[in-house]
Amino acid sequence: MNLFDVLIIGGSNAGLSAALVLGRARRQVLLLDHSQPRNAPSPGVHNFLTRDGTTPAALRRIAHEQLTPYTTVSVQPGEVTNAGRDDRGFRVSTRTGETHHARALLLATGVVDQLPPIPGLAARWGTQVVHCPYCHGWEVRERPLAVLVNGPGASEYALTIRGWSDDLVLLTNGSATFDDSERKRLVCHNVQIDERAISRLDDGAEDMVRVRFADGDTRDYAAIFHGPPQRQASDLARQLGCEVHAPRPGTEIIRVDAMGQTTVPGVYAAGDAATIMQQAIVAASTGLIAASMLNRELLQQDVAS
Ligand SMILES: Cc1cc2nc3c(=O)[nH]c(=O)nc-3n(C[C@H](O)[C@H](O)[C@H](O)COP(=O)(O)OP(=O)(O)OC[C@H]3O[C@@H](n4cnc5c(N)ncnc54)[C@H](O)[C@@H]3O)c2cc1C
Repeated sequence: MNLFDVLIIGGSNAGLSAALVLGRARRQVLLLDHSQPRNAPSPGVHNFLTRDGTTPAALRRIAHEQLTPYTTVSVQPGEVTNAGRDDRGFRVSTRTGETHHARALLLATGVVDQLPPIPGLAARWGTQVVHCPYCHGWEVRERPLAVLVNGPGASEYALTIRGWSDDLVLLTNGSATFDDSERKRLVCHNVQIDERAISRLDDGAEDMVRVRFADGDTRDYAAIFHGPPQRQASDLARQLGCEVHAPRPGTEIIRVDAMGQTTVPGVYAAGDAATIMQQAIVAASTGLIAASMLNRELLQQDVAS
């Protein structure tokens, strides 16, 4: 039986960063990746020092290339469907039936955005419908923008987007469910509120997205900002008994300490799966921290025996 030091599940920003650290520490590592990173539809990764605007695929390709000198790291495609303890550490199995064993695990599996069922929205996710102004705001600055949001806290999200354009409409897709104080705040900062139901999204003039309302009227926007609820991309944390929590409504995060240790000894988590500060460079950084701590734990075991 081949016993890896660390089995990394998920091979995007967090997992690849951890693999680099552990490869340089000469650890035997297996990284299994299902290749469905969250930002796949985005044309460019922003706010990543020295890589601003690089496509998500190119960023991962460079990371793979830079792993090649570290021959103790094996990167393989595969979706892990089961994970649990065994007498030497952990055992995981993949959808195609392979089983692997490791002394420790790193979950770098990310989250999934749960998009609303508005026809035409999913096809525009990551290009014309986006969630993060820090990632996408610059490209649509000073253009007509919309935020699609309702419920308590709607004004906070809308007023954040207001930093990128004065021409901003809040779309509630039906009657507003936030209170009068939020409404007054929005009106006071020149954010229009449109409470009509939306029937679908289409291509608009030039590169804009067209909102078609249920009453037949249409409006074009350079982008629609929408922050959907999320869920864990895999249920492996729960299978392993790791605590999962919701630091704010609509989130689902593996509980970790500052070093990425989950509530289960020997299991670490990094990246979007374990933080609400979800940025590619943060995922890479938390991957590095978790990998360093894993190496430290393994070293302590090595010298104790
Ligand atoms: C549309 C969009 C645009 C964005 N733009 C930016 C930006 O410009 N700048 C920025 O900093 N951030 C951006 N982000 C956020 C950024 O994408 C995430 O913070 C980052 O991708 C998190 O990296 P990660 O490694 O934690 O997770 P992910 O990149 O989501 O990768 C998780 C990986 O784990 C794999 N996986 C999951 N479950 C399993 C399993 N059971 N077995 C094997 N593999 C598994 C997945 O298939 C995937 O490959 C954007 C997000 C979105 C949605």
